[in-house]
Amino acid sequence: MPGRRVLRPSTPVLRRAPGEIQYGTDPRWAVRLVGLDAADEEWLLALSGSGRAVDDDPAVPAARRERLVQALDDALLLVPAPPRRTTTPAPGGGEAERGVLAALRPDGAAHRVLAARARSTVAVVGLGRVGASVATTLATAGVGTIGLHDPSPVLVTDVGLGGYRVRDVGASRAKALARTIEEIAPDVRTGAGPASEPGEVPGTERPDVVVVVEHHAADPARVRELVGDGVAHLSVVVREADVVVGPFVRPGLDPCLTCADLHRADADPCWPQVSRQLRGLAAPQHEESVLAGVAASLAAAQVLAVLDGSVPRTAAACLEIPAPDAVPRLRETSRHPRCGCGGPASAPPDGSPVAARTSGGRGRG
Ligand SMILES: [Zn+2]
Repeated sequence: MPGRRVLRPSTPVLRRAPGEIQYGTDPRWAVRLVGLDAADEEWLLALSGSGRAVDDDPAVPAARRERLVQALDDALLLVPAPPRRTTTPAPGGGEAERGVLAALRPDGAAHRVLAARARSTVAVVGLGRVGASVATTLATAGVGTIGLHDPSPVLVTDVGLGGYRVRDVGASRAKALARTIEEIAPDVRTGAGPASEPGEVPGTERPDVVVVVEHHAADPARVRELVGDGVAHLSVVVREADVVVGPFVRPGLDPCLTCADLHRADADPCWPQVSRQLRGLAAPQHEESVLAGVAASLAAAQVLAVLDGSVPRTAAACLEIPAPDAVPRLRETSRHPRCGCGGPASAPPDGSPVAARTSGGRGRG
């Protein structure tokens, strides 16, 4: 016998025609109940948004209730009643996140996702507009601890997207962003550390995920330590008129940045020296508004996918986001036979042991 069940929260309930009610609009799960009489409709519409338990609702005769509850159950519209309170540092108790998270889970248990996020630590390296936006998005989504790695000063061109204000110009990016996050979500913990040690967030356990934002070209050497330590990481590279988000590397499971670099060198023998020059290009490193916003949102979504227990779309793939329309293109990547990162038993390029992490999707439908 199931416990107290309620209608799946945040599902629009819509009257279509006499005897026909539609639940939801998303094609992944929207459904119609048909053949209803007037009393059926009255009860179903009264249930909408009420939060009342359906299995023993005295507002309707038991025989009618059992028939309709069975129909709702068959349509995956019933979930266990969620707890009244959830521990989350997200603003407003995570109400803004709850509906979408509940829609994605068969059990509607958004509170479990929010609780897992609250226990998580994410480090962000490189805090221009993209990195700052990733950090503030994760804070508003309820990630409990965020490591901030970028001692360079806030530029006037950083202001706006991501949360820097004019008054922050000249201050350390990491410190200014910590103040912003404190104002947005005071229960989110932040720690500022050197950019050279993204695998450590001061005052916390090691991060669950590290996001590395770089310009022109990714530096595989920079993330070799993360591969060696078995820390999941996401590369974001801001180029002259596009941004590349990915690959997301779960060490031992996914092709790494060295794989991507070796493939590139196979296609272009001059790539190693071109790449070296790109990485050495002088600042300033500006980040255009629209590209930065789209890239940061996509990067945050990849991180949250992992924290929420599913496989990010950028595992073994990159999203290329070009100006001017910023519509992402997906480009698959693969392991390179000369890279040593091929599986949990293999050594990464620097020869260190890796700790494989596993995760499985639990999406609805
Ligand atoms: Zn590799």
